[in-house]
Amino acid sequence: MATTGVVGLLEGQRPGPVVMLRFDMDALPITEENQTDYVSQNPGVMHACGHDGHMAIGLGVATLMAQHRQKIVGTLKLVFQPAEEGGNGAEAMVREGVLKNPRPDVFLSTHIWNERPVGTIDVSPGAIMAACEKWTCTVRGKGGHGALPHQTVDPIVATAQLVTALQTVVSRNVSPLETAVVTVGKIHGGDAFNVIPAQVELAGTIRTYDPTTREMVLRRVREIVKGVATACGAEAELEIIPLTPAVINDTGVVEVVHAAAEALIGAENVASDVHTMGSEDAAFFMQEVSGCYFFLGSANAERGLNAPHHNPRFDFDEGALPLGVAVMMQVMAHYLHS
Ligand SMILES: [Zn+2]
Ligand SMILES: [Zn+2]
Repeated sequence: MATTGVVGLLEGQRPGPVVMLRFDMDALPITEENQTDYVSQNPGVMHACGHDGHMAIGLGVATLMAQHRQKIVGTLKLVFQPAEEGGNGAEAMVREGVLKNPRPDVFLSTHIWNERPVGTIDVSPGAIMAACEKWTCTVRGKGGHGALPHQTVDPIVATAQLVTALQTVVSRNVSPLETAVVTVGKIHGGDAFNVIPAQVELAGTIRTYDPTTREMVLRRVREIVKGVATACGAEAELEIIPLTPAVINDTGVVEVVHAAAEALIGAENVASDVHTMGSEDAAFFMQEVSGCYFFLGSANAERGLNAPHHNPRFDFDEGALPLGVAVMMQVMAHYLHS
């Protein structure tokens, strides 16, 4: 499924709920700088986000659940997903029917998290990761001589005003108690010092949690792009491409995961405060199935295992792996055991 995705079904002796566990598997186009005996064997490619750890947890859970198959009431659906890092592998798997035959009742996934120490877990209800849109914009003017600006419509001046005006969406339109990001990540215009170019290309991203805020931000971005371009005598073509919805945790499933984590590592090691404007394509599963996505602390500063995700020196404390398996097993005991 989704070319390299794998789905495993473990059916219990008796019918019951269907629980879907999702583990992402992809690496990143980064050359690893760690010097360990398990360093990446493929130049230019490394597991800089910890998805190899997710696969290890998934295989651990699969092994243990298979050993206890006769005690399972219901069905376990194990989903190993490719292309999480911007490839929307989850969307492809949904399109190819991963949420059918059988349809899951509960969804669970986790991410190894080097922002938190190993031996801790963070699980929060509600929105924890943002909806993500990519946008591209072409500002078209009229090119000409750099010394004769009056004969041109300068798209660079229009773009400068546009970038500034876009900053007002978050600062002046979004409630100070809400959360949103509007980023301009790319500007390309002009090739010579004495030429006013005909057009400028921009691209960026929009991140939001709340659907109403999202609609408002998209509307304001469209209005500002059109309005600023018009005011400058230019034209602008804007395309906003939705990439992923927000990851929204179900309160009921969060309670089960929270209790499971507390039972294993004590309340003092279970927090509910990680929220990020990053995004995660698990949202494609979670907008269909109630679920929980939790963060599994994996940093160990004393051992130097605390580089940020997507860094060439990313590595994590493997103590996170058995804890990830244990939490998932504890949650499975809740849903798939009479
Ligand atoms: Zn990543
Ligand atoms: Zn990741």
